[in-house]
Amino acid sequence: MDAHPPYPSGLRLTGRRVLMVGGGHVAQRRVPALLASGAVVTVVSPEVTPAIEALADSGEIAWQQRAFEDSDVDGTWYVIAATDDHDANQAVSMASESRRVFCVRADDATAASAWTPAVGRSSGVTVAVLSNEESNRDPQRSAAIRDEILEGLREGAIAAPHHRDRTPGVVLVGGGPGDPELVSVAGRKALMQADVVVADRLAPRELLGELPSTTELVDVAKIPRGRFTAQEAINELIVARALEGKRVVRFKGGDSFVFGRGYEEVLACRAAGVPVTVVPGLTSPVAVPALAGIPITHRGITHEFTVVSGHVPPDHHDSLVDYEAVARLTGTLVLMMAVENAAAIAEALVRGGRDTATPVAVVCDGSMPAERTVLATLGTLGEQIAAERVRAPAIIVVGEVVRVAHPEYFAPHG
Ligand code: SAH
Repeated sequence: MDAHPPYPSGLRLTGRRVLMVGGGHVAQRRVPALLASGAVVTVVSPEVTPAIEALADSGEIAWQQRAFEDSDVDGTWYVIAATDDHDANQAVSMASESRRVFCVRADDATAASAWTPAVGRSSGVTVAVLSNEESNRDPQRSAAIRDEILEGLREGAIAAPHHRDRTPGVVLVGGGPGDPELVSVAGRKALMQADVVVADRLAPRELLGELPSTTELVDVAKIPRGRFTAQEAINELIVARALEGKRVVRFKGGDSFVFGRGYEEVLACRAAGVPVTVVPGLTSPVAVPALAGIPITHRGITHEFTVVSGHVPPDHHDSLVDYEAVARLTGTLVLMMAVENAAAIAEALVRGGRDTATPVAVVCDGSMPAERTVLATLGTLGEQIAAERVRAPAIIVVGEVVRVAHPEYFAPHG
């Protein structure tokens, strides 16, 4: 028994010979990582798995199709004894020991001069986890700890604040529909690395509670406007902070470019010479119906979906939507920012030819604790919204996919 912990080291194997004795599943699992490290791998084994044979055929490894001989260790830097035969592995480690070459044992760690850690890579680092003693060597525990560390790195919980990416600039992060679980891995990481976070009302606010205490948090609803509109004030703010050398995250609900005015911010950054990147978000017209169990497309039912902003009514001079054309479409129609104008939009669609019995679902507060779905038809939409006291934010889904999800509520089609 050896009570000393192992001494960790990163082997730089580029161009160096590594010997793998055995060609089974252990070898198959380890060879790719050795190749990724640049090692020159020789496999010695009478038989190998098809995957190893393929690597030999393509010339990525050398394969000696025979039993191990002590002299195989000559000229190698590192040896892995991975046969399923204890005595054969023992012979490999003895030959390695006498030549002072480190040797890993797949069968018996206590008899090995080196151990393979649980390994993973993320954010430019290699994470390797080893148990301290052979007596409590527990590969599953090491792998679980490695997974926790990798997850922390990916999600930004482990950000090593003094060494994080500090390049000044603006990152537009789409936060998804509201549930903090539905932000992307890249979005979460950008948030945790930011110096300044400028957050919208609809951005997943729970994530803001996880920001390091040093992060400056700006709530857009509270930005003083003065002689600027809200959007101009936001553009000014993100540009000014980035020019001060800060890493700024502009944090929005859904996706920044779906009725999010994100591109105005991109243009403002470009005009000021500020580097700007975008992390897409799960957009609510797609995500919210899905959360409510409504498929935005369904085989045999619809070959299209159309997303329309209903923030101005159909006959308004600012409206850019051709409702007559929309009414002629037969697929799924998703209305956003449309609670106020829902009745007028439903009327315009019926006037344009859509059936008053067309199924409609209004999904309010998607992904939030208060999420609920109000069902209606184009004919009853206005009165249902009033009767159920529907408030924004809501996604209104119009079309046969609503019947697919709620056959009990609607009469069969046709
Ligand atoms: N950029 C956002 C949309 C901003 S416009 C995105 O990509 O999702 C705001 C509108 O989005 C709201 O009026 C509502 O129609 C919709 N919306 C956003 N989040 C929502 C949610 N969690 N539940 C229901 N509707 C939502």
